[in-house]
Amino acid sequence: MQDPNCLFCKIVKGEIPSNKVFENKDILAFSDVNPQAPVHILIIPKEHIPTIADISEAQAGLAGQLVLTAKQIAAEQGLESGFRLVFNCQKDAGQEVFHVHLHLLGGRKFSWPPG
Ligand code: 5GP
Ligand code: ZN
Repeated sequence: MQDPNCLFCKIVKGEIPSNKVFENKDILAFSDVNPQAPVHILIIPKEHIPTIADISEAQAGLAGQLVLTAKQIAAEQGLESGFRLVFNCQKDAGQEVFHVHLHLLGGRKFSWPPG
């Protein structure tokens, strides 16, 4: 199911252009329009799921695919020295787009704790 008003559903449908890095029948990965690191890629399910808090047991495989896709892209992007994966979930975490997306960030050092 898709939400016609959702930005990332529009990217999945090609109504909004994106710089695609990977695609299969369930998953799409594309460059973030406002990169926070030299490599900043968003990995999303094609299905509209608003937040990580909405992921069901039945979608465990899909959640795993997001992580495995991130790992694969990190290797392709040459991020051998490390990378960061982030799911911002709901408003206190700063989630702005309510369609699940995994941030893959790399190409620089990251501090901890995050802001
Ligand atoms: P959030 O804060 O929800 O975790 O992250 C949303 C991300 O989507 C942000 O990093 C933002 O730069 C990115 N973003 C917002 N609109 C667009 C867009 O139209 N295209 C792309 N490629 N990225 C977007
Ligand atoms: Zn959506």
